[in-house]
Amino acid sequence: FSCDNIRNFSIIAHIDHGKSTLADRLLEATGTIKMDSKGLNRQVLDKLKVERERGITGNMFYQQNNLRYLLNLIDTPGHVDFSWEVSRSMVACQGALLLVDASQGVQAQSLSVFHAARERGLKIIPVLNKIDLPTAQPDRVKAQMHSIFGIEPADVLHISAKTGEGISDVLRAIVERIPPPSGETTGKLKAFLFDSLYDRYRGVISLVSIQDGVLCKGDRIVSCHTRKKYEITELGIMHPEEVPTAQLLPGQVGYIACNMKQSSEAHIGDTLHRVGYAVEPMPGFQPAKAMVFAGIYPVESNDFPKLEESIKRLTLTDRSVTIQRESSSALGQGYRLGFLGSLHMDVFRQRLEDEYEANIIVTAPTVPYKVVYRDRTAVVSNPTDFPDIVETSSQVREVQEPIVKATIIVPEEYLGEMMDLCFEHRAEDVDHRYLGTSGEASNRAMLTCTLPLSEIVADFFDKLKSRSSGFASFDYEDAGYKKSNLVKMIFLLNTKPVDALALIVHRSAEQSIGRMWVKKLHKVIPRQLFEVPIQAAVGKRIIARETLSALRADVTAGLYGGHYERKMKHLENQKESKRKMKRVGRVDLPQEAFFDILSTR
Ligand code: GDP
Ligand code: MG
Repeated sequence: FSCDNIRNFSIIAHIDHGKSTLADRLLEATGTIKMDSKGLNRQVLDKLKVERERGITGNMFYQQNNLRYLLNLIDTPGHVDFSWEVSRSMVACQGALLLVDASQGVQAQSLSVFHAARERGLKIIPVLNKIDLPTAQPDRVKAQMHSIFGIEPADVLHISAKTGEGISDVLRAIVERIPPPSGETTGKLKAFLFDSLYDRYRGVISLVSIQDGVLCKGDRIVSCHTRKKYEITELGIMHPEEVPTAQLLPGQVGYIACNMKQSSEAHIGDTLHRVGYAVEPMPGFQPAKAMVFAGIYPVESNDFPKLEESIKRLTLTDRSVTIQRESSSALGQGYRLGFLGSLHMDVFRQRLEDEYEANIIVTAPTVPYKVVYRDRTAVVSNPTDFPDIVETSSQVREVQEPIVKATIIVPEEYLGEMMDLCFEHRAEDVDHRYLGTSGEASNRAMLTCTLPLSEIVADFFDKLKSRSSGFASFDYEDAGYKKSNLVKMIFLLNTKPVDALALIVHRSAEQSIGRMWVKKLHKVIPRQLFEVPIQAAVGKRIIARETLSALRADVTAGLYGGHYERKMKHLENQKESKRKMKRVGRVDLPQEAFFDILSTR
């Protein structure tokens, strides 16, 4: 194969618009995989689900006009949290299929992936999917695509990834519209590392895009990032599983195995070159930054070593998670993990619970704040490290919080509701426009605004969905840091602070949040033999208070003369919960109380 016969592309789409289905169809139409009677290839579909849909990279052969082409599909994750991965995958592509659901129309992530692809200079092929649906409105959606992206309606392909209609047009368009990669066979080897997997048997497998030169088995290479040297033990293409080949040519995408022992050696975005032939590393590649942090603790503190092992194992396959040991007087030993976003956190948590096979306590998610001191700036993601008082402290100049630029696309009739939602979450620079001719039924509107990241990490997405009857789509991008009036709120039980419960909140919300939390605590903390004040405080100010009245009766008092077995059972239960008691000050708290409080945040 020469470069001229290679096409590198990805499929970009809002979630559920049919990316995986189309990927499967393309692999099937080129004979790369075989479908079962239901039209599904379980293996590939399962693989797609693995690891938060990390996306398969599939190489396929396609013949047109007696010419054989090698088409390389580099799949990209569809979710906002992984936009960094989207752009890294795009480095290996020259074109992208922009897939839009013909009944749903353009959604928030259609926009963000479109912009990412255009910034990278990719040739975009617009594709309307699901035209088999009775609710499909191709003309209307094409008008939207014209108004939002400036795409000519005549350039839009009509397909159904489900029935297979139009798939051959897609293959033809890939060959005809996407330019071949440029690269010199004779040039010095330059390979871009864009993904890596961990194989139990072969160790680290890296996915690379050859920019220049030819890579062969046995070649000795160097990482620009670490300067470590390796020897290629195996290389090949993904067809769709790994198929060894003798070499990888410029413009080709494939996998390599070299003697990398640890996943951490495979730096995403790294450039590899031949030993003795240095090249300029690929520019402008920022690694992902963790933006959402949470503490993770075992429910049973004895299980910490097991939890630790599970966390270490999972981070082998998902290295965008940052990890740090942490301990808390209430929750014991644990970890503070950093994630790309809240969805990323949910996915990881799910995987952790599966792997670890037990319940874990995940503390309220926080974002990295910047505390600007006289002489330095500290990034703080743990409330414990946040200054107790900002305004009166001469050391702290100001605090800043990360903000995002948010885009919401929603049917016009929900626009007001969405604006209210944004304002409730401290939105600024709110703006909107209509996508299409006004007056039309169920016209779409696009709302943009800036929001503090902290406002969207908890339940913003759930509220957005429920208050728009599921119709709103949402995406956001990093918009830097902004000065903010933030305070640290602590909770006191019997005048003793409970560190695991500390929060960083905006001043305007301190009253309502303080009151809400003391009420919740009052509900879940069992009464003690003495009166317990439950307080929320900011600095020295008490914001809210509830009092837990004293408990006097003996637990077994009412059981005297009653059934002996019942009494024994009661004592047994009591013993059971004693085991999980945590002592805060003089107050005994069942671990479950923390679990209740922290999991409902
Ligand atoms: P992804 O999230 O973009 O990967 O979307 P999927 O490929 O998982 O598809 C989302 C849903 O849409 C699935 O239930 C698919 O079966 C369905 N789907 C995908 N393409 C079509 C299509 O052309 N027609 C119809 N009717 N359904 C489709
Ligand atoms: Mg999918």
